[in-house]
Amino acid sequence: MSRWAGRRVAVWGAARSGVAAANLLVDLGASVVLSDNRDSPEVEGLDPRVELRGGGNVLDGAEVLVPSPGIRPGTPALRAAVEGGVRLMGEVELAASVATAPIVAIGGTDGKSTTTEMIAACLRAAGRPVVVAGNIGEPLSARVRDVGPEGVVVAEISAFQIWSCRRFAPQVAVLTNIAEDHADYFDGDFEAYAAAKLRLLRDLPPGGTAVLRAEDPRVGPAALPAGVRRVAFAIHPMQRGFGVRGGQLTVDDRPLMPAADLPVMGRHNQANALAALAAGRALGAPLGSMLAGLRGYRGLPHRMEPVRTWRGVRWINDSKATNPHAAGAGLRALDGPRVVIAGGYEKGISLDPFLSALDGVRHLIVTGQTAARLRELVGARVPVSMVGDMASAVQRAAEVAEAGDAVVLSPAASSFDAYRGFDERGDVFKRWVGALPE
Ligand code: ADP
Repeated sequence: MSRWAGRRVAVWGAARSGVAAANLLVDLGASVVLSDNRDSPEVEGLDPRVELRGGGNVLDGAEVLVPSPGIRPGTPALRAAVEGGVRLMGEVELAASVATAPIVAIGGTDGKSTTTEMIAACLRAAGRPVVVAGNIGEPLSARVRDVGPEGVVVAEISAFQIWSCRRFAPQVAVLTNIAEDHADYFDGDFEAYAAAKLRLLRDLPPGGTAVLRAEDPRVGPAALPAGVRRVAFAIHPMQRGFGVRGGQLTVDDRPLMPAADLPVMGRHNQANALAALAAGRALGAPLGSMLAGLRGYRGLPHRMEPVRTWRGVRWINDSKATNPHAAGAGLRALDGPRVVIAGGYEKGISLDPFLSALDGVRHLIVTGQTAARLRELVGARVPVSMVGDMASAVQRAAEVAEAGDAVVLSPAASSFDAYRGFDERGDVFKRWVGALPE
């Protein structure tokens, strides 16, 4: 009998992750109450055995509470529940507890989705059945049982998903980097955010592997549990681990393949590819097959995605650059003069990693909540236009761009000031770019 049989569990937040957790729990025999702050939450795909309540979050006698990633650690009701003796459990922790396949978990501030997809491409090329889930798409709880021990669960894990876990023990954990982001969620406490990122490593089991970005001052030297292997990667020469030397991706300083063979642009993507190779190798995939997988990796939409060449101007959509660090990395992937469209939801974090990547930018177009702050910080370094929406931003970019330029949507901010998500913002950008007359 499952250890959940007859136990009372509360799930807070009736969006996708909450629904998936509730469904999995009733399947395991628990008695589940799923609640939401909305008065009459509309939910799709909920198992009828789950009790659904609107108008606030309830415990209703639960001994375990699974909070959705949208619920912040500082939420008073959550703190009160924990003080009252309820055990917190993360949705991904619940999912991992029923997995029969090894899990590779990908965390960090930037490059998670790309690295996740690259790992999946590497493993598939090596003939392994793969489930991709977590922060990248479907909740882990909904997919974790779709693959058995011969396969691998490739799970993108956000800081919002991990802080609530008591024990989350993937076989392999990858940390891409830690940069400033999501200050609003962690009540302005960067150390709390960084700690949530490093948390991914804490429960790695003996014989497990940590794949760590060597250049990152927090990630490279991160402490690991006893018996866990440390594999470093960097976009520099590396005697041990995965690196880049003389334009070649390397392992233990031996060449593997030209970095230029990667179909996706930029040094940041070389880092992501190296992380993928390291993770795949830790799961027993041969390097040769994985390199073939990387050669065939076409990239995700909204990440430095080529949209159109119009009158000699290349238009690129990097809408997923939702923080200054990601945006800076994307811009550094391009040579030559360019026009940048930036701005979005104000998270109150430093814009420096973005501003320092503006060398050689011909014109900056700003929009959204962060527009005024960006304009002020850029000062006289780069000509700036401030516009009200994406249509005007694309219009202005078309006026100032010259043949040979690249125009990049590189917001350095989330999209929630004007859109439902980065994908909607990217789609709107692509639509206006597509509508420019020949
Ligand atoms: P995440 O899932 O962590 O948001 P993505 O792979 O979706 O990461 O990439 C988001 C954006 O971050 C990209 O559009 C690119 O601009 C930038 N980026 C990708 N990989 C890295 C990296 N390794 N380091 C820094 N920035 C990156």
